[in-house]
Amino acid sequence: IGFLEAGRASYREAEAKALAVPTPESARKWLRELTAEPHPAGSPADYRTAVFVRDRLREWGWDAEIRPLQVLLNYPEGKPALALTKPVMKALALDESPLPSDKDSASSEAFTAFHGYGVSGGAAGQVVYANYGRPEDFDSLEKLGISVKGKIVLARYGGNFRGLKVLNAQKRGATGILIYSDPGDDGYAKGDTYPNGPFRPGSAIQRGSVQFLSLGPGDPSTPNGPSIEGAPRLPIDWRLGFPMDLAPGTPPALASDLGTAWERQTGLKRSDYFATIPSLPISYDTAREIFQVLAGPEAPGGWSGGLPLAYHVGPGPVEASFGIIMDYKIRPIWNVIATVKGAAEPDRWVMLGNHRDAWVFGAVDPSSGSAATLETCRAIGAAVKAGWKPRRTMVYASWDAEEYGLVGSTEWAEEHAAELDAKAAFMLNVDSAVSGRELDMAGGPSLRNLLLDAAQAVVDVRTGKTLREVWVEGRRGAWAAATPLSLHDPLWDTTSAAGHPGLSGFVPQLQPLGSGSDFTVFLDHLGIPCADVGLGGRYGVYHSIYDNFHWMEKFGDPEFLNHATAARLYTAIMMRAASAEVLPFRFTPYGEALRDYVDELRLIAARRARAKFGVPGQAGPQSLEAAESFDGLDRLVASVKAFRDRAAALDRALDRISGEAPAASLNESLVRFERSFLLPGGLAGRTWFKHAVYAPGVTTGYGCWPLPAIRQAVEENRWDALGGPVEETARAIDRASAELGRALGLANRPEG
Ligand code: GLU
Ligand code: ZN
Ligand code: ZN
Repeated sequence: IGFLEAGRASYREAEAKALAVPTPESARKWLRELTAEPHPAGSPADYRTAVFVRDRLREWGWDAEIRPLQVLLNYPEGKPALALTKPVMKALALDESPLPSDKDSASSEAFTAFHGYGVSGGAAGQVVYANYGRPEDFDSLEKLGISVKGKIVLARYGGNFRGLKVLNAQKRGATGILIYSDPGDDGYAKGDTYPNGPFRPGSAIQRGSVQFLSLGPGDPSTPNGPSIEGAPRLPIDWRLGFPMDLAPGTPPALASDLGTAWERQTGLKRSDYFATIPSLPISYDTAREIFQVLAGPEAPGGWSGGLPLAYHVGPGPVEASFGIIMDYKIRPIWNVIATVKGAAEPDRWVMLGNHRDAWVFGAVDPSSGSAATLETCRAIGAAVKAGWKPRRTMVYASWDAEEYGLVGSTEWAEEHAAELDAKAAFMLNVDSAVSGRELDMAGGPSLRNLLLDAAQAVVDVRTGKTLREVWVEGRRGAWAAATPLSLHDPLWDTTSAAGHPGLSGFVPQLQPLGSGSDFTVFLDHLGIPCADVGLGGRYGVYHSIYDNFHWMEKFGDPEFLNHATAARLYTAIMMRAASAEVLPFRFTPYGEALRDYVDELRLIAARRARAKFGVPGQAGPQSLEAAESFDGLDRLVASVKAFRDRAAALDRALDRISGEAPAASLNESLVRFERSFLLPGGLAGRTWFKHAVYAPGVTTGYGCWPLPAIRQAVEENRWDALGGPVEETARAIDRASAELGRALGLANRPEG
């Protein structure tokens, strides 16, 4: 889509040639190189990967530079310790076992497992099991009469972003938190464990950031600006009583004043935005030692995982103690930024991003993404050498320090915010590209048709089906299960299946983006449409030493066919977005998505109302007929309907463009469209997040809360305070509608 008739044939030819470039052998080679050593952010090995990536890109004709930043990072100092102190004294293991069949697993260069942005310190006392450590889990404990105050929380991974487990435990007065991987979630209950299968073995530990995200992602010492040399910084550690290098030369007194001024200005306390209690990630073998002696009530329904014992919540009588020392410093990180200049619209960017830093070897996360996107860059380089000229400038970014909290991407984007606002048309984010072969496509609705079209151009070589067929088939079941079917919904005037995306003619939506990867700053802070695409599968070694080349060769992608397939899909998406005379966005899916999000709010409203009036034995209505209204619903629906009509009209006009070039400013309008959703003041309590339609949930961290201004109020049960958020959201939708109207005018008026 978006191509004029005249250029279509020659583009097709260029694309077909480019799609033949990525090969399994070559992807394998990049993966081998990038996983040669553990390369966490800021390490010498990380720098070596930056040089490697830059040099390859230059060979392929890209203009590539290493762009360093200075950011706050913690490394563990020495080894952490964990012991049972009651009923018996026993030291517990914190090491991942070396395996004879996998020499990487014996590496002595890997850091001991720790939490990014976890704090130094120790905790001792009784243990309480808190399931996933979500607010509702702590509520359940309270109902059992159990408080975590003064205790060590034991929580399992899953259900939310791990930093929020620390936040929730800290808010409730816990002195420390141990976070473990339950075998029911990614271990032996799912299948054979490594090295016999792809799932998590008993000693494997999930590292990871425990940033709170309350001020937004990125370097927590510079919440409002880029982490460049000399940037003003919050002295994150200023009350922790352990030393940290601030910007060299900052006197301690000034550091403390800066912190106090910041708190006064924001009304936040340090504990609102950064961990103050120590945390440690542990394996299920080690967690099992604790569960074996944990007493107290049996765990509530749904809290039992895959360990072969009855789960109890405590507290005690088991007591534990643990400690870890962190070395906090401002450290250099290295983004690699590369470009191929556009021939006709050099000041409009189509971007491809992928992080390069890994907790250890990171074969899946993120090196599969690096290997696949490097193949894409090689294919694009070859296309350019063969004479293809991208209309728009293509930007490739190899981000650093994603694992600590999306640091490289966020700080770079904050540094270049004005330029991005003016130039960026869209961003394809790739994190883990391959852990199997199931295609996952998430992203903004305006990109759906582009992604589907590109997926149609790429064939899954094993089945001979196009990726589009594979994806649509895969989504059908999930969609049917999740979507409340209401073909006669008076609210939307849908009186027949024709007006409803019913089961026939089914075209799925892209999954909405929450957070957890580098698209976040682009979408949520800057209003740039983003997509996130990869091939998933049976993967249980996330953030452990076993996520390495050997795992990939044995289980993830033995023939490296999936890497080549992913690279082809990225190539098709990027080349089309860079080439089509009219930016290949379509807006009908956006209207459908907005309606779905409003319906989701209606369902939540209905469930809450039921729960409030205590209809016994009923979880709440499953269909929209039973859904409730809420304050401002009509206003919201009116805005969405107007948007839908405009979107449909614009899509028809865009579909008609084929012979004559439209007005040049049409593309500008298509770029501005997503920006118009930005809320000038940002979201309540987290103003860095500015998109009116997309934000990660306050309590999920990863998962999306669509229409977040309203959703935040709903989640807090502030039904009487919906007026403001509804109005603000509806206005943002109206602004976007107005932009669609502008684009419609331009689409109907050929270049004169
Ligand atoms: N992708 C990383 C993780 O899930 C970082 C996410 C973040 O800090 O927002 O651990
Ligand atoms: Zn990643
Ligand atoms: Zn990761």
